[in-house]
Amino acid sequence: MDFQTAKQQDDAYIIHSYQRYPLLLTKGQGATVTDDSGKQYIDFTSGIGVNVFGFCDTQWINAVTAQLGKLQHTSNLYYTQPCIEAAALLCEKSGMKKVFFANSGAEANEGAIKAARKYSFLQYGKGRNTIVALENSFHGRTMAALSATGQEAYHNFFFPFVEGFVFAKANDMDDTLAKLTEDVCAVMLETVQGEGGVFALHPEYIKAVAQACKEKDILLIVDEVQTGIGRTGSFFSYQQFGIQPDLVSCAKGLGGGLPIGAVLFGEKTAEVFAFGDHGSTFGGNPVVCAGAVDILKRLDDLFLQEVQNKGKQCKEAISKMPHVTAVSGLGMMLGISLDMDSKPVIEKLMEHGLLVLSAKTKIRLLPPLCISQQELQAGLQILQDVLESIL
Ligand SMILES: *Cc1c(COP(=O)(O)O)cnc(C)c1O
Repeated sequence: MDFQTAKQQDDAYIIHSYQRYPLLLTKGQGATVTDDSGKQYIDFTSGIGVNVFGFCDTQWINAVTAQLGKLQHTSNLYYTQPCIEAAALLCEKSGMKKVFFANSGAEANEGAIKAARKYSFLQYGKGRNTIVALENSFHGRTMAALSATGQEAYHNFFFPFVEGFVFAKANDMDDTLAKLTEDVCAVMLETVQGEGGVFALHPEYIKAVAQACKEKDILLIVDEVQTGIGRTGSFFSYQQFGIQPDLVSCAKGLGGGLPIGAVLFGEKTAEVFAFGDHGSTFGGNPVVCAGAVDILKRLDDLFLQEVQNKGKQCKEAISKMPHVTAVSGLGMMLGISLDMDSKPVIEKLMEHGLLVLSAKTKIRLLPPLCISQQELQAGLQILQDVLESIL
């Protein structure tokens, strides 16, 4: 299929909820991806933070295909080894106690929201069910996740939204404390607001929120869907702030390219769900979990240190480039502010063989964590050349 046919058939048969770039991708290797004409691109998107080991990583393919040849699916009515191993690794690396597997980030957040409300119901009875989320947050597209998303643009058309969500100003502790009223059961936040423009919360603010939650027995839910699984240079981003959440949601990078989400439960919440309280047909799928096990085993301290180094290298190089006014983010999750509209720049980068993302007005980079120095430098060179070519 060539690009023109693909575009025409896609227009005919697929709902127009995405504005796609004019690119038909056909294969990839590492951080390099090829289109139908054979043109190659350096990939600084990893499928929106998903392909942590890039395209077609041999070890990951072997892990997934070996499991595919044994059992592709069993349902959660039976025990299977990959999901147990993935859960144990998640707990070991995070200090959390238990795991529920879902299939996406939004779904993981739904699970975390349900768990927070049930915890409070069991402890305090009815009426203590409000969740304080942050302005400018993004938690997903399902109804409760959308209701927790603090951006007006997402609060149209789909009324009525789920009740019981209140929004506090990010990085404003006075405002946040004022919102922590008697009826609040949880605070939900991303340490770096990804879709919100790669906006990093202040470490002091994150710590103060965690402390206030602890004092009031309000649960802290950290949405690590984008920031987790090594993206920011630690396994989970919250580990850089010396805090331990009560609930963590993760997804994107966890499966290395296959759909998976997970809710992680801390000390307080580990026993909240009883038989029948929550479930998923596909959650914990053995093939997807076998892929996750391979990813998780490789995210050791040495690897995470490399992510930090590469992130720093990118930040330093990009800060010096023309038109760049600021670089935000943590690890290999970066937002670039320009002194001009970023959209035409993103298109030009694509023409020159570099794929990047946007977030609000910024250019957003989420390269595969394993990206080679050669690919990283090639990508940065394209960015430099394109920005230099713009007067
Ligand atoms: C992407 C994202 C989600 C939603 O994940 P899906 O897998 O698309 O449902 C939720 N929270 C954050 C922080 C995200 O970046």
